[in-house]
Amino acid sequence: MTSRLVVVSNRLAVVREGESPVGGLAVAVHAALKDQGGIWFGRSGETVATPSSAATITHDDHMTYATIDLTRREHNEYYSGFANSVLWPLFHYRMGLVDYRRDDFDSYFRVNQRFARGIIPLLQPDDTIWVHDYHLIPLGQELRREGVTQKIGFFLHTPFPAEELAAILPRHAQLFRPMLAYDLVGFQTEGDRSAFLHYMQSEIGAEIGSDGTVQTPSRTTQTGVFPIGIETSEIVAAGQKVKSSPKIRRIRREISDRTMIIGVDRLDYSKGLVERFRAFERLLDVYPDERNRVTLMQIAPPSRTNVRSYRQIRRELESAASEINGRLADFDWVPIRYINRSYGQDDLVAFYRSSPIGLVTPLRDGMNLVAKEYVAAQDPENPGVLVLSRFAGAARELTGALIVNPFDTDEVAEAIRIALHMPLEDRVRRWKGMMERLRRQDVHAWRRQFLDALAATAT
Ligand code: UDP
Repeated sequence: MTSRLVVVSNRLAVVREGESPVGGLAVAVHAALKDQGGIWFGRSGETVATPSSAATITHDDHMTYATIDLTRREHNEYYSGFANSVLWPLFHYRMGLVDYRRDDFDSYFRVNQRFARGIIPLLQPDDTIWVHDYHLIPLGQELRREGVTQKIGFFLHTPFPAEELAAILPRHAQLFRPMLAYDLVGFQTEGDRSAFLHYMQSEIGAEIGSDGTVQTPSRTTQTGVFPIGIETSEIVAAGQKVKSSPKIRRIRREISDRTMIIGVDRLDYSKGLVERFRAFERLLDVYPDERNRVTLMQIAPPSRTNVRSYRQIRRELESAASEINGRLADFDWVPIRYINRSYGQDDLVAFYRSSPIGLVTPLRDGMNLVAKEYVAAQDPENPGVLVLSRFAGAARELTGALIVNPFDTDEVAEAIRIALHMPLEDRVRRWKGMMERLRRQDVHAWRRQFLDALAATAT
């Protein structure tokens, strides 16, 4: 019998009757809990003056949601502060944006402790616990302190920083050593795992086994690489459906016979949006024959707006887009369509399918699901070309993309030019290789591989 699953993440995605989950984690968790039964535990998203210590429980057909509330102060210190103003920039190699405060660090640990205390009364002896992401790094240790002996796995969705970078963080060992309380720690790429192993060896003095285990006197932690996937078959089906939809006709009418280049990213400094706009500008400067023939549509829904660096990047992008458009636009053409709102999956698939180029150029990204969605949404008879940053985890798998260094404006401009003129035969060959991988390594394979590896760890 498979054991019941307790999934823990900072936020959870509640799916109402008749709806489908959206986003990699939500799809995987819903499918896993449908198979195995269990609980999804996380923050409610509400802030209250005096939170209850017990979780609020709601049920639907096959799963139970358990949520806790935070105070406004906890939210500011744990979430906006330590998680998003220290860990996120550090893990994305942006030391200059790290805004470390001791109070935030302490609050982060206290909130992790509150998570642990909320989870414990809900646990059954045979449960398996799966903790997600950088908000909850010390949760495993907090659970062990309270006497939890069940298997606990942790998956890091972001990159793990190189050892020298990790060691810059004040009190870094206090943060990272607790990762050895888990039975399994999973990463998106081999590079992330290897950075973690180096850190554990040189800073913590742990012994690294040839099979990727980390040993300390108290426990052996297994490590593994589990690149997160998308729901490939759903996106392929959605792509086929939109083929002749009114939406596609409207998009075509809007851009007339121009080539659309699509970018879809949360408005985040890790996504390399300013550099992307500059590379597109370089293309138009170096190849003036492309002017009036291509349009870059950049969808960038704002996120984490109460963090200063996010307000700053938004201003920088607005100013880059309006400067480029002001200089190069014509009465009947705007080079960059910059849109600050989010779209649903069906709309995104329609955009992907109408765009002969997908431009995904993060400066650093754990995986990047948009790159995978773009490929899966293409027309097999006439697929578009993906231009992909080598610093996205997805570049390890999507080797049929044109792989670029996003810091090299000329190289990205050149890759867009090559993509614009790539013969059909080359596009099909590149696309087929990537699709084969996306079908095999979809989001369901991801969670099965992680949970199988967790089950196989020695008790
Ligand atoms: N997304 C969306 N609507 C939008 C923009 C993005 O649904 O307007 C989705 C997108 O389809 C993808 C996810 O948000 O599934 C973004 O994941 P990714 O790994 O690319 O980046 P993250 O935001 O997690 O850093």
